[in-house]
Amino acid sequence: MRLGLFGGTFNPIHLGHLRAAVEVREAFNLDRLLLIPSAHPPHKMADHVANAEDRLEMVRLAIQGEPSLEASDVELSRPGLSYTIETLRYFQDRFGPESDIHFIVGQDAFSEITTWKSYQALFVTAHFIVMTRPRSKLRSLEDFIHTQISAEYQYEPTSNRYSHPRWRTIFCLDITHLDISATKIREWVGRGRSIRFLVPDAVRSFINKKGLYR
Ligand code: ATP
Repeated sequence: MRLGLFGGTFNPIHLGHLRAAVEVREAFNLDRLLLIPSAHPPHKMADHVANAEDRLEMVRLAIQGEPSLEASDVELSRPGLSYTIETLRYFQDRFGPESDIHFIVGQDAFSEITTWKSYQALFVTAHFIVMTRPRSKLRSLEDFIHTQISAEYQYEPTSNRYSHPRWRTIFCLDITHLDISATKIREWVGRGRSIRFLVPDAVRSFINKKGLYR
């Protein structure tokens, strides 16, 4: 089972996330790709974060009609802060040691990974797929991996990945990066501007109906 886990605050989910998810699933031939909203994101407590049930509902609405993507409530059913290491271990237990777990993350979020709980253990537990942008600073990514994660990661240019003698692989994938952020969407809703074509219509209707981000 080739499993992809795409975690995020998804406050709200937008077309940038969805396009990225579809490209990663196809490129890595994943059997399942789960979008996992963080219930209590440790790094975003101060922001205007919509409640977790609403963010999960928006993920569900966003992927309606796209059977290759699934919404997961795993972090909502766990009390306390949402740590990725616990989510990875949960899926490892559930699908067994044979499962091939890939954690999907944008390069921006990846560059902050040293602030995540038990971050080195993440690389023992799951492969990583780092979504890069064409012409992104790959040299700095390599320095980052060597200085902050492990100097034993070796870059393999033909497959655009970093292999490790004991840990899981870090794959890189250039994706179509749509210049959309949830921050921008929240700001625009707050100012009464349209967010049409930035989020799926069902998500836009839900935000309007619930009066989120006003
Ligand atoms: P915010 O603006 O509130 O910080 P965000 O739009 O960056 O939110 P998150 O939920 O924080 O969204 O991101 C979840 C994951 O999606 C992260 O790994 C992030 O790098 C990635 N991501 C965010 N925006 C995009 C985008 N436009 N295209 C591809 N990946 C993205």
